[in-house]
Amino acid sequence: MKEFKAESKRLMELMVNSIYTNKEIFLREIISNASDAIDKLHYQSLTDKKIKVNKDDFAIIVKPNKENRTLVISDNGIGMTKEELEKNLGTIAKSGSFDFKNENKKKENIDIIGQFGVGFYSAFMVASKVQVISKAYNTDEAYSWTSSGIEGYEIKKCSKETYGTDIILTIKDEEEYNCYLDEFEIKSLIKKYSDYITYPIKMEEKKEEKIELETINSLIPLWRRNKKEITLEEYNTFYSDKFFDYDKPLSHLHIKAEGLLEYNSLIYIPSHASYDYYTKEYEKGLQLYSNGVLIMEKCADLLPDYYSFAKGVVDSPDLSLNISREMLQQNRVLKTIASNIEKHIKSELLNMLKNNREDYLKFWDAFGLQIKAGIYNDFGMNKEKLQDLLIFYSSKKDKLVTLDEYLENNKDEKDIYYACGNTVEQIKSLPQVETFMAKDKDILLCSNYLDEFVFKTMLKYQDKEFKNICSDNVDVESEEEKEQLTKLNEKNQDMLNLMKESLDVKEVKFTSRLTNHPVCLSSTGQISVEMEKVMNSMPNNNINAEKILEINYKHKIVDKLNSLYKKNKEELKKYSKILYAQARLIEGLPIENPTEITDLICDILSK
Ligand code: ADP
Repeated sequence: MKEFKAESKRLMELMVNSIYTNKEIFLREIISNASDAIDKLHYQSLTDKKIKVNKDDFAIIVKPNKENRTLVISDNGIGMTKEELEKNLGTIAKSGSFDFKNENKKKENIDIIGQFGVGFYSAFMVASKVQVISKAYNTDEAYSWTSSGIEGYEIKKCSKETYGTDIILTIKDEEEYNCYLDEFEIKSLIKKYSDYITYPIKMEEKKEEKIELETINSLIPLWRRNKKEITLEEYNTFYSDKFFDYDKPLSHLHIKAEGLLEYNSLIYIPSHASYDYYTKEYEKGLQLYSNGVLIMEKCADLLPDYYSFAKGVVDSPDLSLNISREMLQQNRVLKTIASNIEKHIKSELLNMLKNNREDYLKFWDAFGLQIKAGIYNDFGMNKEKLQDLLIFYSSKKDKLVTLDEYLENNKDEKDIYYACGNTVEQIKSLPQVETFMAKDKDILLCSNYLDEFVFKTMLKYQDKEFKNICSDNVDVESEEEKEQLTKLNEKNQDMLNLMKESLDVKEVKFTSRLTNHPVCLSSTGQISVEMEKVMNSMPNNNINAEKILEINYKHKIVDKLNSLYKKNKEELKKYSKILYAQARLIEGLPIENPTEITDLICDILSK
């Protein structure tokens, strides 16, 4: 007897002892494997003339037997060699769908089953013993794989006449499992979970003393059926079966194109990002069928990167089966389908944004970052297509608003104001923001690291410029105030220059845009303080925003600075350093010389 690999063993344990209420999904998993195996052979036979199979013979046969408590699922698909049995059933090779090491370790087994398709091993939820007899197409030997659970499995040579696979489940003894031997129950499970399977799923039926095979499923894939006849539940069940996501999707799009270009497509917008969505491992793409035959599991060319979250299938008779991946990229039909699908997704999202804000917020929570990246990437090439999908937090409305809504709410403003930081609360407490808000201005509070890059890429929305209120180019002062301030700065130029000498800033100046706080940091030039933070968080970057230390001209610290300038210039330098450190702290920037600063503070405290 051989032992299972470590991960498989844990999954086995979970399955054997499962308290999962939906144990019935095991049948769907096994039938879906059988269908995949037939798909593989079907596809090969269409592209390789040497393989001679009759497509009308393809079938999955399900046979319950109450007397010896077995349920057998047979297919005439591609089958498995001894090595494949070992590889596919002895270990969970496809690490992507079942990564125990990460977040899922802590969760209950119910969650694990709910999140992924657990595949073949789910058989152990209902079976005390599982035997797999398989003969790979075009080979002479058949092998049997047997396991009664966690202890391990055995592979032996055996005999089997035809190619394909038989899965023989010995159903557990307890009464609650009896239903999995009941014909009526099994039929309804096939109808419920596997109706979309494109090969006939057959069961024996007694007709006038003769036993005949009867096809249980409807055979027409969901995407080819009439929209009016499909219930929401059917759409959702198909989604969870096919894409292993047991949370309902936010919406589905059923596209039926006729005329010059013919295709059927079913696209879903998930309600959450999968655990690997924002990693390199995530592969975007839609399943591609040609006239009902699966030709590619994930056709990436059907989706732009910014809609990579979409799941679904595309089936077109206008695509040739023999087409290679390389040729597919150049394919005109595919390009047209892709661009149509993109338009449909966009209009569905806009529709959700307008008519179902609650769902859109869920969408945004999961995939907003992807849309923002879509604007920023490729030098802003797609910004026009995506900008009306953006939402940001409005300080005045205290919720997420679209850019159109912002403009509508602030008709008299010249620009679109925003401020950046780590959280909405932290941004609200920035001195500049406080002052702005006190003047009843509406500010987009941006707590995502991409936000400012998005604005810098867009530059404008509907002719209004994006202005970071913490940067130098925004002022809320009256002309009179401005003039007064210029004079003040001119008058104190020498002192301000002296303060600047000991600091790493472009300028030190008085400002009238602070109310209570003594100082703030702003910037001039292309790179803002927030961008500096983001860019420096990436490896090998050392970027410096051109910073300006602004001092509140009404604050009592100004008197102190003036008197130090007259009496003790060395002391003034120390004060400058402390003030600058304060401004950096408020902005969330690190202090580069913490020991010096703390010593200086202590110095002053002990005077
Ligand atoms: P998944 O189907 O998600 O890959 P499973 O655990 O259900 O994972 O199956 C593991 C592998 O075993 C499959 O990928 C397939 O290669 C193989 N397999 C399972 N059932 C069959 C079958 N009936 N015919 C041929 N191969 C099969």
